[in-house]
Amino acid sequence: MKVTVIGGGFTGCMTALECAREGHEVSLWESADRLGGVLLDIKTENGTYFNGCHYLRQASVESLGWPDDFVEFPHEYGGVTALNNNGIRVLDDTAQPSIEGAAKLLDAPSIEDTALERLNAYGLCATDLIQWAKPFGDLAQLDWRCLGPMQLARLHFPEDVNVPRLKMESHRADQLLATPRRLRGQTADPAWLPKRGYSQLFNKLEKTLIDLGVSIRLRSPVKPSIEAGLFSLRSRTETINTDAVVWTSNPHPLLNRVFGKHLDTPPIFMKLLVGDLSKGSQLPVSPPYYWQVFDKSSCVVRLYVYELAGVMRFSAETFDIVDDNTAWRDLQRVMQICGLGDGHKLASVVKQSRYVNFSPSEFKAFETLTPRMLELGVIPGGWQHYGRVEKVRHIASLFHQFNKTHHGGCT
Ligand SMILES: Cc1cc2nc3c(=O)[nH]c(=O)nc-3n(C[C@H](O)[C@H](O)[C@H](O)COP(=O)(O)OP(=O)(O)OC[C@H]3O[C@@H](n4cnc5c(N)ncnc54)[C@H](O)[C@@H]3O)c2cc1C
Repeated sequence: MKVTVIGGGFTGCMTALECAREGHEVSLWESADRLGGVLLDIKTENGTYFNGCHYLRQASVESLGWPDDFVEFPHEYGGVTALNNNGIRVLDDTAQPSIEGAAKLLDAPSIEDTALERLNAYGLCATDLIQWAKPFGDLAQLDWRCLGPMQLARLHFPEDVNVPRLKMESHRADQLLATPRRLRGQTADPAWLPKRGYSQLFNKLEKTLIDLGVSIRLRSPVKPSIEAGLFSLRSRTETINTDAVVWTSNPHPLLNRVFGKHLDTPPIFMKLLVGDLSKGSQLPVSPPYYWQVFDKSSCVVRLYVYELAGVMRFSAETFDIVDDNTAWRDLQRVMQICGLGDGHKLASVVKQSRYVNFSPSEFKAFETLTPRMLELGVIPGGWQHYGRVEKVRHIASLFHQFNKTHHGGCT
């Protein structure tokens, strides 16, 4: 089968790899001048930095099949919570907000509608958190699933000894209350980082795809359209003839131009601050490690420390709500709180717009339009999933379903 994959980020590359291995004739179309999407590293005159807190899971590393290109590490993380005037909590086995007192869950609000409704289920204790989370978007408009990437899908109540019992007794409590790793009695899951950074990994992936016969088209933005019920794809002046399309990139043009569904949810505006930890820093943790930060006095959301090219580095994500100098001051304060000391060197500040949020009606559209997309030969890119593994699995399952129904499972 002729398969056209749109988008050369991780999802598109892994999908192209799987389809080529299955014997399909694959082309991969990418609007930028190289493969990699959001995983591409930040290069500065000081060196290379990760473009955020990225690491791969076992399933991805197994699919690639190059374990020697990765460093394996226990996926450990911590959380800093400073949402009111009751002090700062730093925990080393949970990335969720740590809320004081007992968990008193309200019965009434739905926990499977908007993000705000779900947070309202915690009652008054979530008020500071709801205020803090505003830069992520209008919580009253966002689907509750968007709380996952914000690390707000569950809250942690460390003083409440009844949490394990509550979770056993009620599905609702189980959905809302977090259990830190140590109480789960589990060691951290394994995770992997590419030894020479993600950009190098994509160079190898590109070569592998070419060796498997995949036609890679860079600088080739694809536009879909529909006329008299006939679906077509063009890139610049070229018409693309294909049996199946896997649309892994931004769904806006597809949903808007082909199905008349406009996606309104705005992106999240963030900044990424990257740099080097001061030489001889004594880390209180073993890197790679990240802290999720819930701090009403700073714009910092996540701080990631790791070693790359023999240097201890950091990549920190902040809300884009203050100027760069203030963001760097906020970050240095958070680094002190996390026990990293001072003297660190900022290398670059990069602005980012993240298209990861969606409303409940947009989520419904992803679901209800899927059968119509499949009828047109379009496999949707698992946009409702945040995790890489989940996106690729979602696509693989729809692709096999489509291939079986329309092409008798042939290659
Ligand atoms: C800071 C951050 C941290 C994250 N951490 C994790 C994590 O730890 N684990 C995890 O599983 N997920 C994480 N995610 C989610 C992660 O982004 C995705 O799971 C995945 O890596 C995104 O890859 P993608 O290929 O789906 O999208 P992208 O990387 O965005 O790739 C899409 C590609 O499509 C191209 N494109 C766009 N429009 C067109 C067009 N019309 N025609 C052709 N090409 C087009 C773009 O140029 C881009 O290269 C994180 C996201 C961010 C932003």
